[in-house]
Amino acid sequence: MNLMLLFGQRILKQNYMNSICPTCKNGTLEPGTTTVTVERAGALIIFKEVPADVCNNCGAYFLNEATSKDLYTKANEAIKKGAQVEILKLPI
Ligand SMILES: [Zn+2]
Repeated sequence: MNLMLLFGQRILKQNYMNSICPTCKNGTLEPGTTTVTVERAGALIIFKEVPADVCNNCGAYFLNEATSKDLYTKANEAIKKGAQVEILKLPI
């Protein structure tokens, strides 16, 4: 299963903490939080305060694999129970 394609988010397999941003190759990735929006099966799921590595130059964010899987599971649960719009916070 390719989480990157399924989920439409950038996922880092390795720990890029304190390394050069792979997107702009200028900034540095720093631990922070971001808002992730997922649109699947006609539902819109918004995750707030998701832990991510955020570039201090271009603002690109990178989720680790565990967080991505967590978001994916939570999004599926929300869709299963028929949510149209759901705003969730991690960790739940
Ligand atoms: Zn960057």
